[in-house]
Amino acid sequence: MTALITLTGVNKYYADYHALRDINLTINAGEFFSLLGPSGCGKTTLLRTIAGFESVSDGVVMIGGKDMADVPANLRPTNMVFQSYAIFPHLTVAENVAFGLRKSKDLDKPTKAKMVEEALTMVGLAGYGKRAAHALSGGQRQRVALARALILKPKVLLLDEPLSALDKKMREQMQVELIRLQRQVGITFILVTHDQEEALVMSDRIAVMFEGEIGQLADPETLYRRPNSRRVASFIGKMNFLDAEVKAVSEEIDVTVQGLGPLKISAEQAPEEVSVGPAVAGIRPETLGILFEGETTDRKLVDGVVDEVVYYGDMTYYDVRVDGVAQPLNIAMKNLIGRPVLDVGAKTRVIWDERSLVLLK
Ligand code: ATP
Repeated sequence: MTALITLTGVNKYYADYHALRDINLTINAGEFFSLLGPSGCGKTTLLRTIAGFESVSDGVVMIGGKDMADVPANLRPTNMVFQSYAIFPHLTVAENVAFGLRKSKDLDKPTKAKMVEEALTMVGLAGYGKRAAHALSGGQRQRVALARALILKPKVLLLDEPLSALDKKMREQMQVELIRLQRQVGITFILVTHDQEEALVMSDRIAVMFEGEIGQLADPETLYRRPNSRRVASFIGKMNFLDAEVKAVSEEIDVTVQGLGPLKISAEQAPEEVSVGPAVAGIRPETLGILFEGETTDRKLVDGVVDEVVYYGDMTYYDVRVDGVAQPLNIAMKNLIGRPVLDVGAKTRVIWDERSLVLLK
């Protein structure tokens, strides 16, 4: 993989406010990269420093091996798609897309028309050129904005919450289309989103940001299965947190977990700097289970009582009280044929497995 964008020691201050704190980051050519985090964590600011819409207070932004310090936004090999799309309603679809070529004065009309049609085909809007932009659906407008950004074949496409104005169904459809489009054009996409599911579905790698810092940078599976901190674990998906005590650290780790007792876990289930003493153990709801009547398991069991039931159709989420655990355990169960939905107060047996446990900072 070739590094395309490198940020070294990047800091950004808005007056006294420290919006980006010592960001060090490499984004590769052809990568689908996401900046994920809660509102106000600095992800848009980071995207805008790459685009050149914000200057950095300190540090270096390099694109394609070139220092961008003195390169204005319009001369960078990047193009941005905004949340609001910024479509001109009084123009046609083709005129909107051709707006992306406004600085290419040397191109003749037929060449421009060909490029517009190519860009529209790329986003699944072939033949839509003559339509009035105001008559488009939200999803179609988003595609026009994408076509306009892609027409100049930038090296990097920057996407600031591009799907947030769409309804759930359309958003899911556009996620799949964006992945397809990125593979097809092969350029680097950098997506800003606060939607963890969207980031997991779409990205090769994700930087999770909190308060101007990168909390963890990893591929989706590593982020989900091996979050490096409690805040990353709770921001991405659901996680049960249990008090634990690390007893010994060698090739394996001896740990006593509240309600589950003493057990051994592998070193890769713990942070590198793990040491003897108090700790927090995390277990995802779908890695726990409930033993229904007639079912068997060779995994471990602990008694519990159902405290809360939330029915989702395909899944049911249970909160189950277990002796010795302060908070009820959240457990996600598939509603398979023949499985009843348990009532609050039902006595039950919780299936667990130490292989799905992670120790967290
Ligand atoms: P959101 O998802 O809400 O857009 P974000 O993670 O993208 O959040 P940013 O927009 O990057 O966050 O903002 C980070 C912080 O910097 C916020 O606290 C914001 O109020 C502040 N900020 C952003 N732009 C400016 C500005 N031009 N002047 C002063 N403060 C700013």
